[in-house]
Amino acid sequence: MSAPARHMPGWLRSPRTWIGMGVLVPVGMVAVCTTMLLQLRQDAWSKAEQTANNLIQVIERDIDRNVEIIDLALQSLVENLKMYDLEEISPKYRQRILFDRAVNAKDLGVLLVLDQYGNAIYDAAGWPARRLNNADRAYFKAHKANPGLGLDISRPLMSQHTGKPVIVLSRRTGMPGGSFSGIVLGSLSLSYFDRLFQRIRLGESGTITLFHRDGTRLVRYPEPNAELAPNFADSPNVQRFLRETSGSFVGVTPSDGIERLYTFTQVGDLPLYINVALSTREIEAEWRDKALVIGLLVLALCGITIGLSLLVAWELKRRNAAEAELAGQSRTDALTGLPNRRAFDEAFARAWAEARRRGAPLALLAIDADHFKRFNDRFGHAGGDRVLENLAWAFASCSRRASDFVARVGGEEFAVLLPDTDAEGAVHVAEAIHAAVTALVVESDGVEVGSITVSIGLGFAMPRQGGAPADLFRLADAALYEAKATGRNRTCYVVMGEHDAKAVRPSSAPEARPSVRTARPDPLVA
Ligand code: GH3
Ligand code: MG
Ligand code: MG
Repeated sequence: MSAPARHMPGWLRSPRTWIGMGVLVPVGMVAVCTTMLLQLRQDAWSKAEQTANNLIQVIERDIDRNVEIIDLALQSLVENLKMYDLEEISPKYRQRILFDRAVNAKDLGVLLVLDQYGNAIYDAAGWPARRLNNADRAYFKAHKANPGLGLDISRPLMSQHTGKPVIVLSRRTGMPGGSFSGIVLGSLSLSYFDRLFQRIRLGESGTITLFHRDGTRLVRYPEPNAELAPNFADSPNVQRFLRETSGSFVGVTPSDGIERLYTFTQVGDLPLYINVALSTREIEAEWRDKALVIGLLVLALCGITIGLSLLVAWELKRRNAAEAELAGQSRTDALTGLPNRRAFDEAFARAWAEARRRGAPLALLAIDADHFKRFNDRFGHAGGDRVLENLAWAFASCSRRASDFVARVGGEEFAVLLPDTDAEGAVHVAEAIHAAVTALVVESDGVEVGSITVSIGLGFAMPRQGGAPADLFRLADAALYEAKATGRNRTCYVVMGEHDAKAVRPSSAPEARPSVRTARPDPLVA
């Protein structure tokens, strides 16, 4: 393990932290990026809406102003028709009186006065008036039928004069009493609208359209009408223009299936409705390019973050596992698989502290194989090792509680910690160990029943009454020494605070007669 990793805070060394970061950081990045992109998209839309609004205002004002100029010419004509006895005036002056105002109207085509039968009687182009009769025209009939019509704007018509499409603006002329005496009319060439719209840049799929109140489409830019005056009264979009007068909405154009942002308004009080439609795809085009780049970058960063986090997590997991394995190895005896001396010391300190806290007893068995050198001499070191393995198994099988702790603390020395066990119980465990050891056989090496024995020093303490783990260990060791000295294959015990070691297991071996140095009878309970 390298030094920096050791000094990292614990939570940073946890693979979970890094996996968590690998999830949270990308999620955060995506959330921030999404918010930002949505904001940018909103900005693009606001800009488009504002542009469309400005445009439509400019267009509306221009058309309204132009129609107003023509209408003023018509109104002046109506007034002049009333004021003078025109037949009496010479044609030259009459033309001037009648049509002077008309010179202001730039886009005006013809300017005529028709009598009540529809015949042209005065013509701005000159005297005499051209010969024509427009009694069959819708605007003529409308004025004749409705004295209060005011200014009428016709659908597009083919001019008889120029052969080009025009709209006709007309007003009724009348006697003071209200009887119909004809109309005045002026024509406005549709090319005026084309000129007006041409100056405006709307992107590839943007359109400007002018509708009559009856649903007739007057002009469409950039693609002009294929027929003269197509009617769209049934179109939901057009119905909405007419109904709401002004506003904006997103809708699909039926003719080309393109989705557009429609911004529309009525032209002044006229029966004309103008709308500017911008393709939503084009509104978002710039944003989309940016979003794609930013999105891809963020995704790449997220990928890198996830990858790095997983890599760090995996590396930490590997390191932690290696450390844990090393830690385990450093606390485990390789031959027997039992905890080693280091692990025993820690467990002993913990058991002591726990017993002191709870006022519980703690027993310790210090076990040493008898005459082990002889096994080595007789069966070889490998044979001795196999005996040690068998001993370890026997000790482990005799200490059954979960809290019991068996360790190999030296070459052929073992220790068994018995927490919460009174002296009597500990003596029983020691007895069981003697019995299990005596019964051990190592067939492969010819070790027979009864040939292996151990001596046990049993130390017993009530930690709450004072002392330290080392004191108990010393006592158990002293008792073990006593067991060896008094003939082996036996247990001697010492209770902390009492000084004599007592043998509790007379051996059956002839050279190991019990040497009980205390007067206390068995079994002994502290
Ligand atoms: P005693 O009854 O007095 O304990 O006699 P003993 O022969 O066991 O004496 P001692 O404790 O002095 O000797 C222990 C011997 O155990 C020394 C060594 O050869 C042997 N020994 C220690 N560790 C191992 C081991 O890991 N494997 C083997 N095979 N033998 C070991
Ligand atoms: Mg020894
Ligand atoms: Mg020994």
